[in-house]
Amino acid sequence: MLSVTPDGTVAKTILELAKEQGKSAGLIATSRITHATPAAFGGHCAAREDEDEIALWMLANEVDVLIGGGRRHFLPDSGTGKRTDDLNLLSKFEKLGWAVTDSFDALTTDGSAGICGLLANSHLPPAVNREYTLQDLTNEAIRRLSTNPRGFFLMVEGSQIDFAAHMNDEVRVVEELLDFEGAVAEAFEFAKADGNTLVVVVADHETGGLAIVGGSTDSNEAEIAWACNEHTGSPVVVYSYGPNSHLLGAHMYLADIPAIIALSWGETQFGPERKCLFLLSE
Ligand SMILES: [Zn+2]
Repeated sequence: MLSVTPDGTVAKTILELAKEQGKSAGLIATSRITHATPAAFGGHCAAREDEDEIALWMLANEVDVLIGGGRRHFLPDSGTGKRTDDLNLLSKFEKLGWAVTDSFDALTTDGSAGICGLLANSHLPPAVNREYTLQDLTNEAIRRLSTNPRGFFLMVEGSQIDFAAHMNDEVRVVEELLDFEGAVAEAFEFAKADGNTLVVVVADHETGGLAIVGGSTDSNEAEIAWACNEHTGSPVVVYSYGPNSHLLGAHMYLADIPAIIALSWGETQFGPERKCLFLLSE
C-alpha cells in the first residue's frame, strides 16, 4: 500500500504538503517513476502494482520535476504505451505547460512550467550504461526547483542499488552506490551554499543482508556474504545536513522523517502517528 492508511484513507505525503505551501516539488528515480518509492511521494494506491493509477496521481499533484523511467504508464496501450484506460498523460502534462521529453539532452528546456523527463519505457539502464549520471539529473532538478522563492522538496532515489542487491551482485551494488553518491554530493553542495536546506540521506530498507565476513587490509580484499535475495529487517542509517538535522538519527521510524521535514516548514502536526513526539518536545 502506498501512502494510504490500512483502511484505505489517503494520507497526505510530504510532497503534497510542499505543493500545498506553494513550494515546488520533484521526483527523480532510476527505476520507473511509478515504482514504489517515488510513487509513495507522488500518489496514493492500495497496491503498488497499479502504476497507471500512480501516474495519474503525479499528474494531479502537478509534480514540477519528474525524471526517471516508466514512460509506458503515461501513454495509451498502443506502441510503447501500456495504459489500459487509453489516456495520454504526456499530452496532459504538455497542456499544463510542462516540457515533455524522453531524452536527457532535452531536459534543460527552460521557460516551461515543469519538466516531465521519462527517459525509458521501464527502468533506466544500469548506471554504467547510462550516458548521464544521477548527479546530472539532480543538478538539473535543483537548478529548476530552486528558482521558487518559497522553496522546494526533492526526492532522489538511486533505485537500482536495491535491484543489484536482489541479484546479490556486489559489483553492481558498488556501481549504483557510486552513482547515488554523486547525487548526494550535488544536494550537499547546494545545501552548503544555500544555508537553509535540509538534506536527508536514507534507505527505505536493507536488501540481501550483505556482510563482510573476512578479507585483509594488506591485500585490500574483502570477503563478503549475502544472507538472502530479499529485503531484510536490518536497521538502516540516516545521514542528514542542515536545519533540524539534529532531530534525525539514533533509533527512529522512517515515518518520522517527513514529520521532521514538515517541522522545518512550520507544520507541527504532520503524519497520522506522531512517534517522534518525544524528540520534538525536547
Ligand atoms: Zn527491493
